Amino acid sequence: MAVPRNRSSNAKKNSRSSHSALKPKNQTKCSNCGSKIMSHRACPKCGFYAKRQIIVKKEKKE
Ligand SMILES: [Zn+2]
Repeated sequence: MAVPRNRSSNAKKNSRSSHSALKPKNQTKCSNCGSKIMSHRACPKCGFYAKRQIIVKKEKKE
């Protein structure tokens, strides 16, 4: 197995990892409330998907 002969410097290590930054995920707007949501998923705030309500939130106990 190949073994690295020299220790790679911090600059070499950091410049190699310059391409591995995370990119922001694609977000779309909710058709009902307009908040940013992930595409092909129901809105976590209002429960709408495909312009109709899918998830009905439970009312809080009094
Ligand atoms: Zn919404």
